[in-house]
Amino acid sequence: MKRIKYHAAVEKTLLHTFQSGIQEWYRREGRDLPWRHTTDPYHILVSEILLHQTTVKTVEPVYRQFLERFPTLEDLAQAALDEAKAITDPLGYKIRGQWLHDIAQVVVREFDGVFPNTLEGLLRLPGVGRYTAGAILSFAFGYDAPILDTNVNRLLGRYFGVDYKDPQADTKHQLWSIAEAVVPPGNAREFNNALMDMGALVCTARKPRCLLCPVANACATLAVPNEKNSCHVAEERVQYRRRSE
Ligand code: SF4
Repeated sequence: MKRIKYHAAVEKTLLHTFQSGIQEWYRREGRDLPWRHTTDPYHILVSEILLHQTTVKTVEPVYRQFLERFPTLEDLAQAALDEAKAITDPLGYKIRGQWLHDIAQVVVREFDGVFPNTLEGLLRLPGVGRYTAGAILSFAFGYDAPILDTNVNRLLGRYFGVDYKDPQADTKHQLWSIAEAVVPPGNAREFNNALMDMGALVCTARKPRCLLCPVANACATLAVPNEKNSCHVAEERVQYRRRSE
């Protein structure tokens, strides 16, 4: 299995607790989603573009409809743009149909119809940023590539004690470095899915479910509830723990 990059000063025990806790939780609680049954990069791309700013539940039927109409990248490249948009526009955020159609044409024209499998190649595709590239590299090609969307950013920030709301480039770089460091070699496909589910289902924005969190005992936010990175529910958990002692 090819490893893309590995660097970040992450404390080993903290790292291993996080990796094992998240993986075990995912094997019990992870979501069964249609795009998790494929490694076709085109199908992964369609799911990732449709999931921009849209819930999984809303995307599922549109994903199926889109791939029924355009089962291959070539089918999409040869179709009229309006046909693609007719399926994706009802989701809102209407640039998606355009992106998918443009990407299909770029892959056919500039990559001889073969989906790029490098970060540099993927970043040349319209609408594909570092997150989407990481998702395709790990989910489709099995490379140890990091992902960092809003949910994963929040989860990693809280657990490792980084101010994930800070927009400074240094902080973003630090979180990307952590996202690289946490990927267990050879298991990016499962682990990145686990990160996404943890961020969506447990370490949520408003009411994180710290009481049910598999890595709560090592979470920096829970350990220092009065720091600016703390969250209300984490504080509640500390109080709960103190009352139980
Ligand atoms: S303990 Fe709470 S804040 Fe920490 S990672 Fe788990 S859900 Fe997130």
